[in-house]
Amino acid sequence: MIKKGIAILGSTGSIGTQALEVISNYPELFSLEVITAGKNAKLLIEQALQFQPNSVVISEESLYDEVCNALKDHPIHVYTGEDALCQVVESTQVNVVLTALVGFAGLKPTLRAINAGKDIALANKETLVVAGELVTQAAQEKGVNIYPVDSEHSAIFQCIVGEFHNKIEKIYLTASGGPFRGWSRDQLINVQREQALKHPNWSMGAKITIDSATLMNKGLEVIEAKWLFNLKPEQIDVIVHPQSIIHSIVQFEDGSMKAQMGLPDMKLPIQFALTYPSRLKTDFQRFNFLDYPQLSFEKPNVEVFTNLSLAFQAMETGGTAACVLNAANEITVAAFLEKKIGFLDIAAINQKTMNLISSKNNPNLNDYIAFDKEARNVASSLIL
Ligand code: NAD
Ligand code: MG
Repeated sequence: MIKKGIAILGSTGSIGTQALEVISNYPELFSLEVITAGKNAKLLIEQALQFQPNSVVISEESLYDEVCNALKDHPIHVYTGEDALCQVVESTQVNVVLTALVGFAGLKPTLRAINAGKDIALANKETLVVAGELVTQAAQEKGVNIYPVDSEHSAIFQCIVGEFHNKIEKIYLTASGGPFRGWSRDQLINVQREQALKHPNWSMGAKITIDSATLMNKGLEVIEAKWLFNLKPEQIDVIVHPQSIIHSIVQFEDGSMKAQMGLPDMKLPIQFALTYPSRLKTDFQRFNFLDYPQLSFEKPNVEVFTNLSLAFQAMETGGTAACVLNAANEITVAAFLEKKIGFLDIAAINQKTMNLISSKNNPNLNDYIAFDKEARNVASSLIL
């Protein structure tokens, strides 16, 4: 059997480290070719020493020397800088690129990987939110597969495998509701960073954890689903399911619904994205019905968690609208994490930024880069 060469962009993060666990369980199936990190040189070095990849990238240039020194006795290439991410994914040894870095930074390397004919295991949902049209078109042209890693989208993907040309009538993305489910706007005014960073069911990176608390994560996932599964906005619905056992649901044209369920564990969707169409035996913890005598469902409160409505609005508008929303949200989440703005300011500034920048249709890559920059400037100016 030919081993799959894997590149992990963002190997030191929550998805990246779990992907390394999966890969290390199947040394006969995978060869780890590339790992990259933003600033966490220490963990990147540890991972490189353990896995001996062909190349590593540390994006933060000031840390380049540290990584080079630590790996100098090993046959490992070390690179730095923005362009390096785009180059390493093109390596002939790489077959699949797992995009596990955060935000807009994933867009260029993902496009470069697609253009080089590499399959994508996509965790970096922001890439599809920002430029879903461009990315899915490029993938189609190159005959490249985009396998979802996000648990909801993996669930939908698992439900439609084997359905051939049966049409999807509708999908339901499930949402845990985050740590503030049921809270009023008044209660949310004084929410602190530490409270927002405590997700009830999943342990994830800081940005997505805040996005989960504001429901922006679900909004981003709605747009991600539109592009992954070629759906119209009215075919996508969100249902709050606090136990996070049902990971999402597909409804077909005959009314039949298929759901994918299991205990929340990102290793499963990561593994399925890397081994599709096979399911490999794991020792992941199994679900016990009696531990969950009730699975419950609620409507999301979009009056309080307005980010979810903003995402639907951006999806309806199309063009660069979702790129603008994503950029504003990257700025506001970072500002909230730095304690510069309050919890409710995140959605308020996102909305103001969207209102101030009109959308452009049929954008190309340069348009996305320009709109991303402008939205960051506008959102930053609203923070001061
Ligand atoms: P994280 O913050 O834990 O890790 C991010 C990784 O990317 C780290 O290795 C970091 O060094 C690197 N990185 C961050 N910014 C970078 C930049 N500008 N340039 C280069 N490298 C950079 O994040 P995470 O929770 O693993 O999430 C990664 C992606 O996967 C996000 O898009 C997130 O929405 C998505 N996702 C995560 C989960 C989860 O359970 N963590 C679930 C579904 C989807
Ligand atoms: Mg998700």
